[in-house]
Amino acid sequence: ATPTAMMVGVGRGGRLGILIKGPDALEATGRVDTVVLDKTGTVTTGRMRVVERTCVDGADIDPIHGLAASLESASTHPIAAALVESCPVPVPACSDVRTVSGGGLRGTVEGRAVVLGSPRFLGDEGLLLPPDLLRAVEDGASAAMTPVVVGVDGQAAAVLSLADTIRPEAPQVVAELSRMGLRTVLLSGDSQTAARKVGDRLGCDEVLAEVMPAHKAEVIEGLRAEGHRVAMVGDGINDAAALAAADLGLALVTGTDIAMRSADIICVRHHLGVVPDAIRLARRTRRIIR
Ligand code: ADP
Ligand code: MG
Repeated sequence: ATPTAMMVGVGRGGRLGILIKGPDALEATGRVDTVVLDKTGTVTTGRMRVVERTCVDGADIDPIHGLAASLESASTHPIAAALVESCPVPVPACSDVRTVSGGGLRGTVEGRAVVLGSPRFLGDEGLLLPPDLLRAVEDGASAAMTPVVVGVDGQAAAVLSLADTIRPEAPQVVAELSRMGLRTVLLSGDSQTAARKVGDRLGCDEVLAEVMPAHKAEVIEGLRAEGHRVAMVGDGINDAAALAAADLGLALVTGTDIAMRSADIICVRHHLGVVPDAIRLARRTRRIIR
């Protein structure tokens, strides 16, 4: 039989709008024992702001910020918007920008080779961080910030540290999932330190950091191979494969974004509270059906 989409309203707190597609999804939802939560844009708002800027001795940070904003004007990452909006100088034009998924960007601005992104990505690009920039990276990460390293013509030039905001409902939702006997795992492409800080604040059972977008699906498959029934919660932007690999993919979307076809369940409202609601509802419904 063709699974009929069923709109379910879950009462408490007015958290309405869970779309359950067909009986298989309902069955999978009721048997979930592990909930994997993507970090940026899922447990955090994904709206970032530049909190600190550090550059090498004697250099002027503003033009370096301009070079970074130039590359970012070609990117849709939450980091990009923050770096462009906060840029104190006119943003110069750039050419041949390349996105390195889960790492950062590379391109040419005013004849200069500019590279930016995670400290690990800059390391892979062969750039070494002088002690003051290394300290900025460590301080930022231990404050749960995301450090963006900027390299110009093969030299590390600055660190721009960005802060994201944990969604106000996230800690209660993680606590609720734990009370329901579910194991919670935070999954992120961000650094170990920054991800662990957020995981600890939320009370997640496990934190898996520095996982590239392409590897998120493998992590889900690994958990399933261990015998777990996995729900993956993401924003559906760079984690579509992981959502599809899970027993249950929950894409938190705003409005009625129907691009999330791989997810068995679409949480129409972007509120993390729909996750425990959906699992509780499915458990209850399974009991009734039997
Ligand atoms: P997350 O899993 O937290 O959503 P991503 O997988 O999108 O993160 O990216 C992983 C890391 O790569 C980011 O935390 C950031 O350090 C770096 N990165 C990715 N894209 C960009 C970008 N456009 N500008 C700067 N840094 C980036
Ligand atoms: Mg993300």
